Amino acid sequence: MKISNVTVYVLKTELDEPFAFSQGWVHQRAATLVQVETDNGLIGWGEAFTQGLEPPEIAAAAITHAFKPLVLGSNPLDHALLWHKMYANSRDYGRKGSVISAISAIDIALWDIAGQFYSQPIYQLLGGAQRTSVQPYATGFYRLNGKNEAERLAREACAHRDAGFKAMKVKLGFGLNDDIEVMHAISDALSDESIEIMIDTNHAYGRIEALKLGKALEAFNIRWYEEPVVPEDIEGYKELRGKLNIAIAGGENEHTAYGFNQLFKHSALDIAQPDIGSCGGITAMRDIGALAQANGVQVNPHVWGAAVAQAASLQVLASLPVTHHSLFPTEPILEYDRSSHPFRQQLITTPWQMKDGRVEIPTGNGLGIQVNMDVVEAYATQ
Ligand code: MG
Repeated sequence: MKISNVTVYVLKTELDEPFAFSQGWVHQRAATLVQVETDNGLIGWGEAFTQGLEPPEIAAAAITHAFKPLVLGSNPLDHALLWHKMYANSRDYGRKGSVISAISAIDIALWDIAGQFYSQPIYQLLGGAQRTSVQPYATGFYRLNGKNEAERLAREACAHRDAGFKAMKVKLGFGLNDDIEVMHAISDALSDESIEIMIDTNHAYGRIEALKLGKALEAFNIRWYEEPVVPEDIEGYKELRGKLNIAIAGGENEHTAYGFNQLFKHSALDIAQPDIGSCGGITAMRDIGALAQANGVQVNPHVWGAAVAQAASLQVLASLPVTHHSLFPTEPILEYDRSSHPFRQQLITTPWQMKDGRVEIPTGNGLGIQVNMDVVEAYATQ
């Protein structure tokens, strides 16, 4: 079996109503999808993570110009071999960011092909399912004005609760006073201590402000505090871990086992959050998971992409062992992006849904999805 073609699709659509996170305004949703075909008729799909401010064309160009020529003609079952070939060939200009997202997309597609070849879901190829369903948490609380939206965000929290979510992640990083006001409003509106809250500033602050915010919110019983400082400030992560009684999470802007190894070496994290579409795909996620396990760090994947990335993330979530074993361990939870995204779920013919507060892991071969080509073509720009 040989890889006979690699096709990239850049999907984009403008949002009717732009929204903000701490780093800027999101005006469009986009995805870089890759379709890998084999000479015996198998088709695998992958997706490169496109962060809210990231042009999807960067990963697309890396796939087309750097990696497609490297994998064409190869055996797609050699996914680890091909991962290292792509990484080694791009080391001098890659290692982080969109180049690794490009590798991630191809890697996911190769695992999808392997699953179809062996007639197994990817979690089976990863060694079996630790769980058959996962609890989702709502990611939302983006801003429509920027500041002074505490009341609206409190209503949003109630909407997530009423939709069945038992956990939700609040976007902060809009100024300490505004952040604290938002958290009080949400807490008062929910008046339900069984609902878990996570906070995410998307590295809006330096160490002093990040510490002040954490101290002000320690009483809120927060499950994790995500990206408190910039990803480069590994010592800052470690310092905050030492000073706060809140689990520190990060890693959506880190890449590969090489990158996560630095975070683990410096005891920077309680919870590692690799994104399947940018950490290096399933191959890298497996390596990062093993490293995290050996360092006593929980893994809770980040996922903010479209349906292909979500499907890949679900396969990995099925296979992740808990880090701290007990009768009632802390299980990884699924990031369920509730922000506006016109084609996220339409991309596949049978979108997954939350039922009774859980999301089932697809059991079909490979990623367990059928991509809807009409939707791909409707949003494709190249
Ligand atoms: Mg985040």
